[in-house]
Amino acid sequence: MRLKFRRGAARGLTVATMATALALPLALTTPASASTVDVPDVLATAMTYQVKGKNVHKHLEKFQEIATANGGNRAAGSPGYDASLAYVQDKLRRAGYTTSTTDVEFPLSWEEFSPAVLQQTAPEAKTYTVGTDFVTVHSSGGGDVTAEVQVVDAVIPTPETPNTSTAGCEDADFAGFVPGRIALLQRGTCPFVDKATNAKEAGAAGVIFFNEGQPGRTDPLEFDIVEWRFGFPIVMASTAVGLDLADSPGTTVRLKVDAATTVGRTKNLIADSRWGKKGEIVMVGAHLDSVPEGAGINDNGSGSAAILETALKLAKVPTKHKLRFAFWGAEELGLLGSEQYVAGLSQAEKDKIRLYLNFDMVASPNDVTFLYDGDDSDAEGAGAGPAGSAEIEKLFEKYYAKRSLGFEGTDFDGRSDYGPFIANGIPSGGIFTGAEGIKTEEQAAKFGGTAGAPYDPCYHAACDGITNINAAALERNSKAIAYATTFYAYDLSTIPDRNAAARAKSAAAPAAHAHAHGKDGKHAEPAK
Ligand SMILES: [Zn+2]
Repeated sequence: MRLKFRRGAARGLTVATMATALALPLALTTPASASTVDVPDVLATAMTYQVKGKNVHKHLEKFQEIATANGGNRAAGSPGYDASLAYVQDKLRRAGYTTSTTDVEFPLSWEEFSPAVLQQTAPEAKTYTVGTDFVTVHSSGGGDVTAEVQVVDAVIPTPETPNTSTAGCEDADFAGFVPGRIALLQRGTCPFVDKATNAKEAGAAGVIFFNEGQPGRTDPLEFDIVEWRFGFPIVMASTAVGLDLADSPGTTVRLKVDAATTVGRTKNLIADSRWGKKGEIVMVGAHLDSVPEGAGINDNGSGSAAILETALKLAKVPTKHKLRFAFWGAEELGLLGSEQYVAGLSQAEKDKIRLYLNFDMVASPNDVTFLYDGDDSDAEGAGAGPAGSAEIEKLFEKYYAKRSLGFEGTDFDGRSDYGPFIANGIPSGGIFTGAEGIKTEEQAAKFGGTAGAPYDPCYHAACDGITNINAAALERNSKAIAYATTFYAYDLSTIPDRNAAARAKSAAAPAAHAHAHGKDGKHAEPAK
């Protein structure tokens, strides 16, 4: 199915001239039979010789230098982040890319100015006590609403075992919801943020969560919902208050939260290559921000440096398709850069992005080569990605297998920057070498390293500096990144074309329900 040489992978160019552009040893370009050579594979393989670990490492040294000069980190909104972005942008601009930035908002701080109020106004007049009957959910919007409460899919009487309630987890739970009412939502199963998102989409004027009701799950639970843009008051009540509000139809409450979030601003960096058809974009991204605790050299200087070096080496190569490199801001705060970027695209702009490759941590000290499980062959966690994701995973598998390098799947849960892409039907894939997870005996036997120890012992810690890089993994995976990027820059034949007509055709099929929420796969979400 691959493009063959005689069909002309890149119009007007021969393997020999492209080999020159790539400084490819000519021996590599002299196949036994020119009619069967897989040109994208040849060119992509050539690029793996161009992208070298030691050059990728130079970018990492620069990121370390930037962190050291800026308080030890490169976190969103910090001077270390801005300096990292300036460094990458300068390199790409000089190489001939058209660079631009897009704005990203993130919550800087949240403050509550006076205690929240929860009162039942009908059928009874009752004031609930803040701190014992209910608490404010951190990141709640401010507001003072008096409205009828509407119970959404609660399990009453309360269940025996945790996560029996799926209240508000599905859009369908809100089918009969009357806009303007306050949603009363039982804890259970899915993250609170999903429940509140569904409530907002249904037109709720506020949200009262209540604890699920099993032993140990009855008090009002204090937590941060992280998402700060709901714009309505959100509180968490005890099971008793929840049941009290649920017991008679027409119950009306006053719900007041006096709080506000101060919004910070940062940027994504986007770089478009000068080659290729405008309507066919191969997009490759990595988050450029670190956590405030450290320099973030593995997480995610490694992915950023690898795609930067790939971009620099591809700058002069006339690819068939346009390349777009993204350096995301505020990933560590919940995929905010990629989420806001994708949300800002029109449908036509989304359709042009034929696929998205994501690289978040590719040089972990105690690494495993994990490939995003786009085809769900592991049958674990989230399902398969949008059509084309399985083919991306297969391309990486083929790459590593051909070089006798091991790999295994990692759940395609949408919790790095590819999340917003797959939620919008854009196929995706990528490599991940592990975070705080523990290496198994089997993995140590297969990949080397230390069983029983984390893949990255410095994950989200101050020690994630330049010494926290596995040079062999950096070299190996940077080459795989260069391979996949170059391959797709010439050959998208395995990736479905999602134009308007194709979408209309598949509109009858129910869309996959994918929420991009929470943080990168390595963070805990608010308690479910
Ligand atoms: Zn990361």
